[in-house]
Amino acid sequence: MSSKIPKQLFNTFPKWVTIDNEAFAQSQLTDPVVSIRLNPSKRIHQFDQNENVPWCVDGKYLNERPSFTGDPLLHAGCYYVQEASSMFLDFALRHLVDFDKQLVAVDLCAAPGGKSTLIASLLNDESLLISNEVIQNRASVLNENMCKWGKLNTWVSNSDPKQFGELHHMVDLLVIDAPCSGSGLFRKIPDYLNDWTIENVNLCSQRQKRILHDSYNCLAKNGILVYMTCSFSEAENEQVVDEILQEFEVESCRLPVDEEWGIVETESEIKKGYGYRFYPHLLKGEGFFLACFRKKDGFVCEDFEPKVQDHKKYGSLLSFIDLNQKIILEQNGLLMAIHNAHNMILQKCLSKIKIIKKGVMLGKLIRNEVIPEHELAMYHQVIYPQRIELSTSQALAYLKKEDIVIESSVKGWHLVTYNKMPLGWIKNLGNRINNYYPNNYRILSKNILPY
Ligand code: SAM
Repeated sequence: MSSKIPKQLFNTFPKWVTIDNEAFAQSQLTDPVVSIRLNPSKRIHQFDQNENVPWCVDGKYLNERPSFTGDPLLHAGCYYVQEASSMFLDFALRHLVDFDKQLVAVDLCAAPGGKSTLIASLLNDESLLISNEVIQNRASVLNENMCKWGKLNTWVSNSDPKQFGELHHMVDLLVIDAPCSGSGLFRKIPDYLNDWTIENVNLCSQRQKRILHDSYNCLAKNGILVYMTCSFSEAENEQVVDEILQEFEVESCRLPVDEEWGIVETESEIKKGYGYRFYPHLLKGEGFFLACFRKKDGFVCEDFEPKVQDHKKYGSLLSFIDLNQKIILEQNGLLMAIHNAHNMILQKCLSKIKIIKKGVMLGKLIRNEVIPEHELAMYHQVIYPQRIELSTSQALAYLKKEDIVIESSVKGWHLVTYNKMPLGWIKNLGNRINNYYPNNYRILSKNILPY
């Protein structure tokens, strides 16, 4: 349970929104809500009976916080542990965006990947999500989570928002889940209380406006901008909405929110732009804010002309993916697959942003053999019939990168699975089994309990 919130926090709330301060303060002393979002490309059924998060198609509440690390299905990318309020992005995007179209989306502040995994699942295969994180070690965590989510339509980059500003009018959806003072998460992460000051709220507000100004140019005409924080403070929310409406040619988008959900609709003080506030005493979720805009000026880039590639060179080697509509890129002996519609975008982006993951990394080409990469095992459409199903204890040993004992007379590469979901690769050498689970993803904790 969390400790008491600073009194000054109330002074940063918008004055025109009436909330019951006492009920709000009480809610901070209760346990945070636990929720997950399922991966629609890796369907599992163990949560079918759980309560739905009302504003997110794949969101589920859990009654308590289990040992997520002890669940092999988490490592297989079958679900993502995500705070329920922030799943409201699902509702907003389904309302505002036509996902049948080919789209370019950018999630600018993406680590560890909650919003990016959500967006990747909404986009069709021809569309592209560039999931970006400016801080290098956080970009690695983002890369791991996007790898496990297993979609070909996602790249991961490690660039400053300014570099995105150079992708003029290329982006149909720009999502900015901005770094903030974090007051909405006090109940979940009590440590945030120690760093909270009014000065920091104002610094965050300035940084949020700077990120918006730096990146805004990448948005195409009619493109959607979604701005979010997990702060309660007006300076980081409605005042930023006013800045957006004053500085850019955009219109504020109103969302048809169900009154029963307990979400508070606000309007910014000067330009009356809509925003959506989440208070923990009014709904099952933590503090959160979201506002959406549609760009009215600029132009649209047509970047989806597909590249045709002759696959003869790879035909027999790459039997584990359907090569239709894919192009294979070779970089330092590594093979990766991207959608053939993304080639032109790649050419435009290469000199502007630092891309650390493109589509799906397939493997290393060594003499005429492909040594498979973990990313290939995680790809939701991997084709590999040689599979071995593991028990819970075997799966956890595998995920800890321990030696595992498996009865199989078939030599060579196998996909190991848990509840039929791929966890990674092993190689049976006859006298022993090599565990190819990536070192940096392995479970480190010794006394991990099964889920
Ligand atoms: N969208 C993420 C998710 O759903 O998992 C959470 C993002 S978190 C609220 C904000 C992110 O912005 C952090 O990962 C942080 O490293 C990044 N960040 C910090 N300073 C930044 C800056 N100046 N420009 C862009 N991003 C920044």
